[in-house]
Amino acid sequence: MIGEQFLREDHLIFQQTTRRFVDKELLPHREEWEALGTVPRDVWLKAGENGLLCCDVPEEYGGPGGDYMHSVVLAQEMARAGGGAPAFAGHSDTAAPYILLYGSEAQKKEWLPKAVSGEAIFAIAMTEPHAGSDLQAIRTTAVRDGDDYVIKGQKVYISNAQQAHVVIVACKTDPSAGARGISLLLVETDRPGFVRGKMLKKIGRKAQDTLELFFDDVRVPVSNLIGAEEGQGFFQLMGMLVQERLTSAVRSTSAMRVVLDDTLRYVKEREAFGRPIAAFQNTQFEMADLWSTYLAHRAFVEWCIGKHLKGELSAVEAAAAKLRASECEGVLIDRCLQFFGGMGYMWETPIARAYADARVNRISAGSNHILKMLIGRDLLK
Ligand SMILES: Cc1cc2nc3c(=O)[nH]c(=O)nc-3n(C[C@H](O)[C@H](O)[C@H](O)COP(=O)(O)OP(=O)(O)OC[C@H]3O[C@@H](n4cnc5c(N)ncnc54)[C@H](O)[C@@H]3O)c2cc1C
Repeated sequence: MIGEQFLREDHLIFQQTTRRFVDKELLPHREEWEALGTVPRDVWLKAGENGLLCCDVPEEYGGPGGDYMHSVVLAQEMARAGGGAPAFAGHSDTAAPYILLYGSEAQKKEWLPKAVSGEAIFAIAMTEPHAGSDLQAIRTTAVRDGDDYVIKGQKVYISNAQQAHVVIVACKTDPSAGARGISLLLVETDRPGFVRGKMLKKIGRKAQDTLELFFDDVRVPVSNLIGAEEGQGFFQLMGMLVQERLTSAVRSTSAMRVVLDDTLRYVKEREAFGRPIAAFQNTQFEMADLWSTYLAHRAFVEWCIGKHLKGELSAVEAAAAKLRASECEGVLIDRCLQFFGGMGYMWETPIARAYADARVNRISAGSNHILKMLIGRDLLK
């Protein structure tokens, strides 16, 4: 268990609830939802009823008043469900926190209770066809018109967008001001001019919906600005990256453990040349290597969690955790898959899905090449 030393009684109870939910509500439906490309709406409501959404929202806004360790527990249990679907983390840990951290009192009162119950699903829309890593290059604009902003532009690869009720949209409110010209706006998805594009076909995470979005002169009131003034969006987004990258590292490390357990089981069962493949020295050496690699990563991630719980984890440390965990996840799953032989290449096996699902972790939450640049720049300054 990642972060065992930080778990309290309430985290352990939460773990049991989450485990039951994953076993009963998610695992049996994986294939059906992969074909659908999303999950049914009621899964979110059931997750809300079980207290799995937005655990860190305080009681005054309808939340359970939990902390980051609830997210860590959820990430680990969700890793058993595989496939990152439903994208509870995108809703609870990435999108809704913008309201909790930077939203007005009215936004918090209106939206946080609904985010906790699953009544409102949240998405975050930064990436555009021309701009992903280079956020300052986004072209979606929000132009002030009386008491409204008028939003025009396009976003791509947006998780949870098929079902989202609220999208936090990064827009240029002053295209001439660089980073200081970006603002975040809360956009309700029933507003005229908000158009969902097609569901994108992905190589993994097939039950997690990922869409293009179009904003065709969408009007939102000025009160939908997140933060007290325009131009804060870039800094709000950067402020969230430490937790987002750490959570990504927790997810990758959790996936490694699930795959290791599955592989250890398989090599003991599968026979070749009259004995279990676990009996070959190559298998023992490989598994020893992979297991010790996992333990080393887990220790690093736990150290990062400890620092984050005290509010001391730096952006560079979080980037290093995400970089190493996602790279290691890719290599570890690949080497584990080898033990499954042809079976490992078949979509029906969890290892094949884990292999495909993991790939995005080296791209999202900061492409690993960008993270190397950030870390390198800091080391050599
Ligand atoms: C499944 C999935 C879900 C996603 N969900 C969301 C979401 O919910 N919301 C959202 O806003 N976005 C989402 N994204 C988008 C994701 O955040 C971006 O794909 C990511 O930030 C990279 O941006 P890009 O794809 O435009 O790649 P680019 O920015 O074009 O980068 C491509 C590659 O170019 C190289 N590169 C670029 N800049 C540099 C540099 N400065 N130094 C060195 N190399 C560089 C790197 O190799 C990099 O990997 C999702 C993506 C996927 C695949």
